[in-house]
Amino acid sequence: MPRFDPEDAAIKESVEVTYWEHLPSLGMYIRHEGYGFIALHRDLEHDSRLARVVLAHELGHHMLHDGIYLESSICPRVPGWSPLAVCHAEMQAERWAAERLLPLPFVEEMIARGGCVGEDIIGELADLARVPDRFARWWLDDLERRGVLQKMVTRP
Ligand SMILES: [Zn+2]
Repeated sequence: MPRFDPEDAAIKESVEVTYWEHLPSLGMYIRHEGYGFIALHRDLEHDSRLARVVLAHELGHHMLHDGIYLESSICPRVPGWSPLAVCHAEMQAERWAAERLLPLPFVEEMIARGGCVGEDIIGELADLARVPDRFARWWLDDLERRGVLQKMVTRP
């Protein structure tokens, strides 16, 4: 699987990424005069897996919400996972990130090989995609909830 690199993607999109000491959330997206800026909480410098998710999420706002969303988006994230249910745009950005970090063909292949979705598969997916386990778990649940993985998943 070609691994999605959110830092490269930000460079390609000319989005400036900076780390901030005092940020009320882990990530924030700002659009100003046509340019996108992403601020990441300084703590993420020590958690590269979570940093990949948060950066991809903020890029999701950049790609999806041009002109239809707030000038500045401070992204709430509850400890269990995710920003979800806070609002539609947050869910869209989170799914945009997940579709790139854990693409469906990759997930399907892993599940087909394992036969079912258990904690071992979640851990393996998370390791290969270099994301936190809880993000992979949330994504599989989300796909299952929406019927995308329905036919493949049998929980032990
Ligand atoms: Zn957000």
